[in-house]
Amino acid sequence: MRAPRRSGTLQLGVISGIPVRVHFSFLLLVLLVGLWGASSGQPAWFAVLYLGLIFACVVLHELGHALMARRYGVQTEEIVLTPIGGLARLDRMPSGVAELMIAIAGPLVNLALAALLLVVGLGLDLPLDPTIQEGPAALYGLLLLSNLALFAFNLLPAFPMDGGRILRSLLSLMVGDDEATRFAALLGQMIAALLALLAIFGPGQNLVLLLIALFVFFGAGQEAAFNRTRSLVRGRTVGEAMMVRVGTLAPQDSLEYATRLFLAGSQRDFPVVDAWGRLAGLLDRNALLRGLVEHGPDAAVLEAMARDVEPAAIDMPLEEALRRLHGEPHAALVVADSEGLVGMLTAEKLSQWIEVIRRL
Ligand SMILES: [Zn+2]
Repeated sequence: MRAPRRSGTLQLGVISGIPVRVHFSFLLLVLLVGLWGASSGQPAWFAVLYLGLIFACVVLHELGHALMARRYGVQTEEIVLTPIGGLARLDRMPSGVAELMIAIAGPLVNLALAALLLVVGLGLDLPLDPTIQEGPAALYGLLLLSNLALFAFNLLPAFPMDGGRILRSLLSLMVGDDEATRFAALLGQMIAALLALLAIFGPGQNLVLLLIALFVFFGAGQEAAFNRTRSLVRGRTVGEAMMVRVGTLAPQDSLEYATRLFLAGSQRDFPVVDAWGRLAGLLDRNALLRGLVEHGPDAAVLEAMARDVEPAAIDMPLEEALRRLHGEPHAALVVADSEGLVGMLTAEKLSQWIEVIRRL
């Protein structure tokens, strides 16, 4: 499997074969919570311990999605923690019953944790009293309430909340995939707008709620757009959409020559082909710019190109190509058969092609 390389994240560890990473903005949250702790008279360790425990619950929530997905043959590339929640990045999202089960598994983990905490609390005779501000009882109460809140909040029927997926999957069983997504995305955006109004005009302006509203609003729009695209490319192959007239470079060409080629036409990414016609690498726009900075214009393409290029087959489903272009570290997907290079696909060309297909 390709190792996904996400910038701005730090790997914490690997659970059940799934890398768990934390986004750097998370450190900001740790700082904020520490300050909140200090300002409300709590010891800083209390606030930070509470945060650690909550995020352990979030990781368990995401693991719930990931392990349920595995039962349906869907792999999880990584779990990322951000200040506004976790995200299990699945390698694909199935529809129908599988989507329903995967989506509901996360919130159910929080419900189970709340139930477990309640049982343990009763066993240890811990009082469940929100007015207690210190010690194990305060931590226990906060943790129990937080899990209930995570359960309820994630069930909001708005993308990209789990509730949005649950709604979408239930609707798709009745009216089909595309209708279901359109409706769920619209509802998601309406709920996001309401949350934003509440955040701005409600009691005590709530910045976190506003952030979540924006996150939901754009998430819903993205989901709808991605789904439209997916339904257009379904059943089609890379061979139908790829560019066949592709300019190539040789490994010993200079970066200056590559730059002239880059400026002369509309092609921005160049497959590198050796004297025997074999694919040697890819010089995409980023690699060219980086190469110019690091090695100068006289350096050979060989020094700047990416070598870890995994060519796509001509009969690869376009849906998969779309996914690879989104997750790929390179800006282009090279298409090759046993004879060598046959074409190339870039995100821009693909979206132009989709635009044409939509109008036909
Ligand atoms: Zn979830």
